[in-house]
Amino acid sequence: MRQRLVMGNWKMHGSLPENKALLDKVAAAAGGLNRAIAAVCVPYPYLAQAQSALAGSKAAWGGQNVSHYPKGAFTGEVSAGMLREFGCRYAIVGHSERRQLFGEDDATIALKAGAVLAEGMVPVICVGETLAERERGITEEVVGRQLNVVADRIGPEGLKASVLAYEPVWAIGTGKTATPDQAQAVHAYVRGVLAGRDKGIAATMPILYGGSVKAANAAELFGMQDVDGGLVGGASLVAEEFLAICRAAEG
Ligand code: PEP
Repeated sequence: MRQRLVMGNWKMHGSLPENKALLDKVAAAAGGLNRAIAAVCVPYPYLAQAQSALAGSKAAWGGQNVSHYPKGAFTGEVSAGMLREFGCRYAIVGHSERRQLFGEDDATIALKAGAVLAEGMVPVICVGETLAERERGITEEVVGRQLNVVADRIGPEGLKASVLAYEPVWAIGTGKTATPDQAQAVHAYVRGVLAGRDKGIAATMPILYGGSVKAANAAELFGMQDVDGGLVGGASLVAEEFLAICRAAEG
């Protein structure tokens, strides 16, 4: 049975008191999860807070981004080693907001995944097409390219230690969710690409869906054969919503 994971991506939201309330609820509820892991990816300044609130619970935490450099004169960057020092298990790489708003390309994202793996953490590698790309009928081409550039770089051993997230850009933060069939079709394609490299990795790789996941649609999405959980933005900021999504991943 593949690992299920529900990962909250807080983006640039939060404050110390709001975080405390949310993290305490996540820590308490994570203990009741059996099949699914609950994780939160918080802004860098809140990693210490997440670590102290979640340490000893079944919940995990991580960064939303990471530098591809290990150290040096790179103002504003945060290395994978720094994330590890704060107990992170995960780091998101290649989120579409990083690709679109901060100009990150496939090659840089591949280096970031490698940097995360080198510190013994799990990169959550995001792939996904824009609306224009979907309308042009090139979803598979785009997602396949994004995945293959990273896979070529990190190799089978790296892939084995990674998690993938399919996030159609048109569904992120828009309230527009891919239908379960649309999500399943791309997840099955991604698993097929992996199978072309290594059947064992394809069988065990958790592939998360991201794009306006909420308590109301999570069970249906997670009920699809190749959907192994969710990467959740907006709904991860509301404890009851996020925890209901985590419970939906138990099914
Ligand atoms: C995300 O940030 O990865 C995301 C999927 O956001 P939302 O759930 O708000 O669409």
